[in-house]
Amino acid sequence: MDVSGLLARLGLSPPNGPLEVRSPIHGQVIASVPVTTDPARAVQAAAEAFAAWRVVPAPKRGELVRLLGEELRRAKPDLSLLITLESGKILQEGLGEVQEMIDICDFAVGLSRQLYGLTMATERPRHRMMETWHPLGPVAVITAFNFPAAVWAWNAALALVCGDPVIWKPSEKTPLTALAVNALLTRAAERFGGVPNGLSQVVIGGIEAARTLADHKGIPLVSATGSTAMGKALAPRIARRLGRSLLELGGNNAAIICPSADLDLVERAVLFAAAGTAGQRCTSLRRLIVHHSVRDRLAERLKAAYGRIRVGDPRDPATLVGPLIGAKAYQAMRHALAKAGAAGATVTGGERLAVGGWNQAFYVRPALVEVRRQTELVRSETFAPILYVMGYERLEQAIALNNGVPQGLASSIFTRDLGEAEAFLAASGSDCGIANVNIGPSGAEIGGAFGGEKDTGGGRESGSDAWKAYMRRATNTINYGRDLPLAQGIVFTT
Ligand code: NAD
Repeated sequence: MDVSGLLARLGLSPPNGPLEVRSPIHGQVIASVPVTTDPARAVQAAAEAFAAWRVVPAPKRGELVRLLGEELRRAKPDLSLLITLESGKILQEGLGEVQEMIDICDFAVGLSRQLYGLTMATERPRHRMMETWHPLGPVAVITAFNFPAAVWAWNAALALVCGDPVIWKPSEKTPLTALAVNALLTRAAERFGGVPNGLSQVVIGGIEAARTLADHKGIPLVSATGSTAMGKALAPRIARRLGRSLLELGGNNAAIICPSADLDLVERAVLFAAAGTAGQRCTSLRRLIVHHSVRDRLAERLKAAYGRIRVGDPRDPATLVGPLIGAKAYQAMRHALAKAGAAGATVTGGERLAVGGWNQAFYVRPALVEVRRQTELVRSETFAPILYVMGYERLEQAIALNNGVPQGLASSIFTRDLGEAEAFLAASGSDCGIANVNIGPSGAEIGGAFGGEKDTGGGRESGSDAWKAYMRRATNTINYGRDLPLAQGIVFTT
């Protein structure tokens, strides 16, 4: 697999360094990249860039992001292929990931003219009170392997229009995609002209590099996407220096299937949400909570559908499920299935499949696991295509199961009953950051705020008013009279 031609088209000369990049497609090394020796230097460069970028008018900053969107449109086929080679997701999903980057660029361009503050009524005569939003400072973006480009775009497109430089620490499993995306941004910056050095930087490294960024006073916001363990390790470090963190961590997402659900729709939604991306989305469907009246029927349908899923080389357009990211992910899946089996669950699928004679790659048939109870195993996230199926009698019981896990990212209900749908969306319903009706929990659009509660970390990225995390708010009170009336009617005469 020669990636140098692909990288050249994306504006990257072949990198060289100690960090080996393996493609999960065959498990072989496809490139080796340099490692950043001193991430703190990037923070210094970002501080200098901030001084210049924060005074560029926001709509003009939006122009840079518009140009980035153009570069991404042009590079979409190549960048999607690189994402597929590095992360193992199928080409359709690679294309989808780049489209998501384009979408957030479009969103951010519009936003660059809409960084609105409120004007508030003041209790004092001849006064005016308002809030203004100002750039915050350098933002560190730490990302996971499974969305090697889009998560950066959700953060960077907003941060750049908000006036903030970005330092990106990608997953050590997917540094090529990060370098290629940064090269596209460099092209956009050249066309823009006058972008300060250090506005967008990539720091390649592992846990140590992430820690350096988390500890650095020069970074007011650390946006970190990855496992809950990573969030729990980094959050206290950021908090110790009173920095802001935006955490997008693990999920354990459920769908409730009610008696009135359209099972054709359910089957299609489950296949995409549970088996798609080989179960390696933070929003992947991991738990199916099915009403007893339809449980057996649905289980039979899903077993048949799972048996037909085409697992294979993600570059082949006929493939629906590509490989796991590596050996550790496979071992975690085997361990979970063995534990479930030992506890009396019925396991269908989950076996390793030989593809292309690549014995260092890990292809698996997605697994269905019928369980009687929501055990500790079901309550934890195994980042692999395992779908636990359990039953319920009453909706309150189903909602309690949906909420009865440490994570709180995505959830959904399938029903034709309006009362059930509304109960699920209400304050006493799903406790997740994403709650859907008649669609699966995965595959969010950029227009909404994305993120979840509890062990998912509480952060929100992307659409709605998520931009506010990347700015600082100032409340301004202006006295245009000649008196000095005090708030709360306080009299203070000398
Ligand atoms: P990971 O936690 O292993 O790594 C994510 C990033 O954090 C990488 O850049 C890694 O170098 C860094 N990192 C890991 N452990 C660290 C530590 N102890 N200290 C400092 N930095 C550390 O995650 P992954 O395997 O790349 O991705 C899968 C996980 O990410 C899953 O749990 C998934 O649910 C989650 N995820 C969440 C979202 C979301 O938006 N909520 C999106 C994608 C992935």
